[in-house]
Amino acid sequence: MSTSAQKDEPCLAIVGRSIAGLTLARHLREGGYDSSILSFESEKCEPYDRPPLSKELFGNYFHPLAEEGYGSLEDIGARQIDETVTHIESITSTFTSAFTRTEAENSSLTTKIETSAYHSYTAEDAAYTSGILDASTRTNPRWRLTTAEGHTFEIHTLVLATGTRPHATIPGARVLYSASDAETLRSQIGKGSCVHIVGAGWIGMELASQCANVGAHVEVWEASPHILGRSFAGAVTDIWQPFLRKAGVKLHLATPYPGGLNCDVLVQATGASPTFPLPSHLGIRSARGAVAVDVWGRILADATPLTHSSPICQAIFPGLYAIGDCADTLLPTGTWNEGGHWMSALHGAARTATHLLGTESSLRFLEAPEIFSTQFGHEIGFVGTVEPHARIEREETEDSLILRWFTGHTLRGLLAVDAPRALARARKVLRSPLPNQEV
Ligand SMILES: Cc1cc2nc3c(=O)[nH]c(=O)nc-3n(C[C@H](O)[C@H](O)[C@H](O)COP(=O)(O)OP(=O)(O)OC[C@H]3O[C@@H](n4cnc5c(N)ncnc54)[C@H](O)[C@@H]3O)c2cc1C
Repeated sequence: MSTSAQKDEPCLAIVGRSIAGLTLARHLREGGYDSSILSFESEKCEPYDRPPLSKELFGNYFHPLAEEGYGSLEDIGARQIDETVTHIESITSTFTSAFTRTEAENSSLTTKIETSAYHSYTAEDAAYTSGILDASTRTNPRWRLTTAEGHTFEIHTLVLATGTRPHATIPGARVLYSASDAETLRSQIGKGSCVHIVGAGWIGMELASQCANVGAHVEVWEASPHILGRSFAGAVTDIWQPFLRKAGVKLHLATPYPGGLNCDVLVQATGASPTFPLPSHLGIRSARGAVAVDVWGRILADATPLTHSSPICQAIFPGLYAIGDCADTLLPTGTWNEGGHWMSALHGAARTATHLLGTESSLRFLEAPEIFSTQFGHEIGFVGTVEPHARIEREETEDSLILRWFTGHTLRGLLAVDAPRALARARKVLRSPLPNQEV
C-alpha cells in the first residue's frame, strides 16, 4: 500500500464499497477502463446488500453483492484499501474556462463557495468533462485524499459513494445499518422478547414486521401522526394500521419515545443522514444534507440548474463526483431527485460510469425515484414523487392496493401493495429523458 502520494501515478478512487461504489467500478471495467481503481471502505468485510438486513433479519440477512451478480472487486481488479477516508483537498486550485456569468455573478459565486476549485460550464460545453477518463486525465492529479491511518493518495477522479449514517441519539438504543448491527439485534431478539422501536419509517416498519414474526412483543413510537410520514405525508397511515394490528404490533402515533421504559431491546429507526468526507465549504448541500450533484454525479458548486434554454452556467468541481445515498440530484428542471434508496444508488452509479467513459448517449432515460419494501406479508413498491397538493386516487381489490398521486392529469407517483404490474407500468411512465437526449 502506498504511503507516499508521489510514488504512484494518480488513480481513480471510489470511497465507499457498497452497492453504488461497486456498481460504478464494475461499469467502468465493463466499459473498457483499464487503469488503476482504488476502492476505500471503512467496514472490514466484503460488499453486501443492506435491504435484506431488515427484511430477512432472522433468516439469511447477509447477501454478498458478488453472489447477487453485482461483481466482486477481485474480478473487477480494483485495489481494495480498507481504510476510512477522512480528508479531501483540491491539488489544482484554478481551472480555465469560458465563464458565461456576469462579473457580479462570478464574484458572489466565488464568495459563496469560498474556493476557486471549480469549473463553470454552459449547455454548449456541457460535454466538457464527458469521457473524462482519457489518457491525459489519467496523468493529471486533481485531488488528494487522506485516510484515518494517515496515508495519502493523489487522485485524478474521485467518486464519493459513502452513503448515510443512521441517527443515533437515544441513549441505550441500537440502530440497524450494518451486518454487525443485524447480527447483534438477531442475537438479542426472539420469541417473547420485548422490543421497542422508535420511528415508523421504512426500516422501523420492516423491523416491527420481522420481530413480530418471530414472536416478540413489539411496540412502535412515532413522533409524527403518520406511518411512513416522510415518504407519504399521511396518505398511508390508515392502510398500514391494520397491517400492524394484525401482526400484534402496538403503535403509538404522535408520541415521542418517552424513555425510561423497560424492554429487552430498544431500536432507533428515525432516519439517516448523508455522510461524506468533504470540507463544508466545498460544494452545496440539499435540504436532506446530501451533496448536490447533476444527473451525471458531478458535485455542484452552485444550485443553478443547467437547462438548454438558459444561458446561466452551472459550476462543478472537475474530477469530483458523488453517487448513491450521500448525493441528491439537481435535475435540469430545477427539481431534486433525492437519493437514499437502493435503486437510485444503482442507477446513479450507472449514469456516472457512462459520463466518465463518454458513453452517455447509451442512456436514454432518467429513472424516477423508487422504493421497495417487504413487510407484514406484503410486497410494496413506490415510484415517483409525492407532491404536497397532489390529488390521490385509490384502487383496491381483494389482493392488492394502489395509490396514485396526480397533479392535474399527470401521474406523479404510484404506491403498489402487492401490485407489481402497476408498478412496472408506472416506472415507464414516470421516467424522463436525460439531458443528452434533448441536445
Ligand atoms: C436495514 C436497511 C434496509 C434497507 N432497505 C431498503 C429497501 O427496502 N429499499 C430501498 O430502496 N433501500 C433500502 N435501504 C437503503 C439502501 O440500502 C441504500 O439506498 C443503499 O445501500 C445505498 O447504497 P450506497 O452505496 O449509496 O451507500 P451505503 O450502502 O450506505 O454504503 C456506503 C459505504 O461507504 C462506506 N463509507 C462511508 N464513509 C466512508 C469513508 N469516509 N471512508 C471509507 N468508507 C466509507 C460505509 O462504510 C459503507 O459501506 C435500506 C438500508 C438499510 C440500512
